[in-house]
Amino acid sequence: QPIIQFKNVNKWYGNDFHVLRDINLDVAKGERIVICGPSGSGKSTLIRCVNRLEEHQEGQIIVDGTELTDDIKAIDRVRREVGMVFQQFNLFPHLTVLENLTLSPMWVGKVPKKEAEEKAMQQLERVRIAEQAKKYPLQLSGGQQQRVAIARALCLKPKIMLFDEPTSALDPEMIKEVLDVMIELAGQGITMLCVTHEMGFAKAVADRVIFMDQGQIVEQNTPEEFFNNP
Ligand code: ADP
Ligand code: ADP
Repeated sequence: QPIIQFKNVNKWYGNDFHVLRDINLDVAKGERIVICGPSGSGKSTLIRCVNRLEEHQEGQIIVDGTELTDDIKAIDRVRREVGMVFQQFNLFPHLTVLENLTLSPMWVGKVPKKEAEEKAMQQLERVRIAEQAKKYPLQLSGGQQQRVAIARALCLKPKIMLFDEPTSALDPEMIKEVLDVMIELAGQGITMLCVTHEMGFAKAVADRVIFMDQGQIVEQNTPEEFFNNP
């Protein structure tokens, strides 16, 4: 049973912009997929549909056995299993690194503060940024901020991690420290969908590379096949 299934999914922006065209995609548990393709081809939209940041209009998206519909409970259930990392780190500048994790709406009022802090520190250690816990995001480098964002996404112990161009906003010297953390995660059995132009990362960890163009999946292959057939 795939952990993510897209069945004949179509999505439009407005009435006439057909952004996802008949997407069929099964993602196996633990699979690591890299999605590439030209700007505007629908990569970001595709992964944003997995946690319902975007709605599809036709077809079915089933995440860990739950079909995504308007049902708020189903959406909540799925969102607890799906962590997401964005190009812009989306950290709250007026909260410390630790507070950015512990004040997650998923935790506040549900998990005691001390427990939330312990769990948050574990995730900060996992991305090797624990010593910066008391700092504010803007006191950190871009690479460090992105690692905080990854730690925040990991706090809910997601089964699936979505990455939307996580290194595109970083200076070249910061990219490696973020990719290294992603490579470590890839070795830990978590299902990953990554939109990225980092083909070195794709070669190192992807089980499958998907190429999108104009809203369609036009090719999917193992990295070996993909890079040997230009
Ligand atoms: P990619 O991630 O491959 O660059 P996106 O999924 O971000 O592509 O966007 C695909 C297309 O949909 C682009 O042409 C973009 O401008 C358009 N688009 C994205 N979001 C919206 C939106 N909220 N409303 C209208 N058009 C959008
Ligand atoms: P990315 O390339 O990282 O997907 P974009 O610059 O395409 O980011 O989009 C940033 C935000 O603006 C997204 O939330 C996207 O949905 C929205 N957006 C993109 N294109 C359009 C558009 N043509 N109309 C309205 N919103 C858009």
